[in-house]
Amino acid sequence: MGVYDFFPEYEVVRNDTTCVNCRVCERQCANGVHSYHPEITPARLLADSTQCVDCQRCVLLCPTKSLKIVQSNNTYKLNNNWTKKEINEIITQASTGGVLLSSMGNPEPYPIYFDKITINASQVTNPSIDPLREPMETRVYLGSKPEKLTRGPDGKLQSNLGPHLALAMPMLFSAMSYGSISYNAHESLARASEELGIFYNTGEGGLHENFYRYGKNTIVQVASGRFGVHKDYLYAGAAIEIKMGQGAKPGIGGHLPGKKIVDDISRTRMTPEGSDAISPAPHHDIYSIEDLSQLVYSLKETTAYTKPVIVKIAAVHNVAAIASGIARSGADIIALDGFRGGTGAAPTRIRDNVGIPIELALAAVDTRLRQEGIRERVGIIAGGGIRSSADIVKAVALGADAVYLGTAALLALGCHLCRACQTGKCNWGIATQEPDLVKRLNPNVGYKRLVNLMRAWQHEIMEIMGGMGINSIESLKGNRLMLRGVGLNETELGVLGLKHAGE
Ligand code: SF4
Ligand code: SF4
Repeated sequence: MGVYDFFPEYEVVRNDTTCVNCRVCERQCANGVHSYHPEITPARLLADSTQCVDCQRCVLLCPTKSLKIVQSNNTYKLNNNWTKKEINEIITQASTGGVLLSSMGNPEPYPIYFDKITINASQVTNPSIDPLREPMETRVYLGSKPEKLTRGPDGKLQSNLGPHLALAMPMLFSAMSYGSISYNAHESLARASEELGIFYNTGEGGLHENFYRYGKNTIVQVASGRFGVHKDYLYAGAAIEIKMGQGAKPGIGGHLPGKKIVDDISRTRMTPEGSDAISPAPHHDIYSIEDLSQLVYSLKETTAYTKPVIVKIAAVHNVAAIASGIARSGADIIALDGFRGGTGAAPTRIRDNVGIPIELALAAVDTRLRQEGIRERVGIIAGGGIRSSADIVKAVALGADAVYLGTAALLALGCHLCRACQTGKCNWGIATQEPDLVKRLNPNVGYKRLVNLMRAWQHEIMEIMGGMGINSIESLKGNRLMLRGVGLNETELGVLGLKHAGE
């Protein structure tokens, strides 16, 4: 540490009386924090806390539980304006001259509206439903639905239903590219989706040849860089997603450093090995809803109108008007991504200051599409900050058909939210391409953990719906009477379309 550095954020604390010098921590930490020193007496392990990102790997694998990581209590002179975070960031940028990079979602203390919304339950009248004994429907069909159904004289349905995604439960795994996450993480997501009857999403990295067999549970993404996009890829998926924006970094493109573009990743992305894969901020052929519509219909033409097309946007200030345009563009599904959505790497300033919470964006979009009479033209997927089955129930009641889960899925795989994905040295084998680290995530275990989490949440959703006296996701969708706000002001309640608790 030099005089222009700052004190480490975390300190590695070792109990030297219980540590047996087995050196597991030294082998497990890809950041080189722990090192064994036979030259000192007694010979022992020392730690360089400046390199620790608090991933908890060494703590959990230490056989004698001799390690803990604590937040440094080193304090700057107290100042509400210039906090430790701001001071440290300025010191870093003065050293590097670079843009600050971070990963995962916005950690700033903006209101979490899901925590200010409560769910109704039936009492006395309209009795609750026991999900263990009575049928409970969690299936969801995502896509464009006709405004009304018509039947012919023979009673057969005459309406022309477009292609849909059929989900066994209202959850999908959100876009995470091969390159940003490891092969084993992708395999876990693909296998879990197949077993659960839901979908995972390739992100903008193309589809590895080994995963074509999971195509019926795969959403293939088309992003501004068009990496890995070709006819077979488009045909391989059950749906095609056009990524216009991403909640973690609205308004900017993506960047996968060249050192991560190796072997399979280069082949899958169709980009040269070792060169950076930079996706531009805009699609260079889209400057209007009409242009977007052309891409939607090009993708439909290419796949003979057999796949629903999703348009994914970041939740930004005029999201409702944008969604209205998308619904008219011919897209079948809109994916809204709130500003707490995760990412493998984003400029810190963008991640922490741009975009809006998914709860407000979702309610605003659902209200606008209903007012314009076009809500059934599109399905809505909400993502960016969904943390539990209760959040899912609230999102559906605010107007979503289903939700995208990214960070929650990574946590199930073993992520400990150290938020150091951008370094490529994920100690849990998820956000890395280093072979020794990748093999730490066993896909046989990973996919089962995802299945466990989704089944547990599905069960909880059925219990919550049963408590409300509702027996299907379709009846819950947009049913805001089932929600009440707590401690929200009139404007917030107005955007959310909710009454206050007690009303
Ligand atoms: S980075 Fe992770 S493995 Fe390394 S010392 Fe810190 S908590 Fe332990
Ligand atoms: S994926 Fe890995 S590097 Fe990223 S936050 Fe999780 S544990 Fe940390």
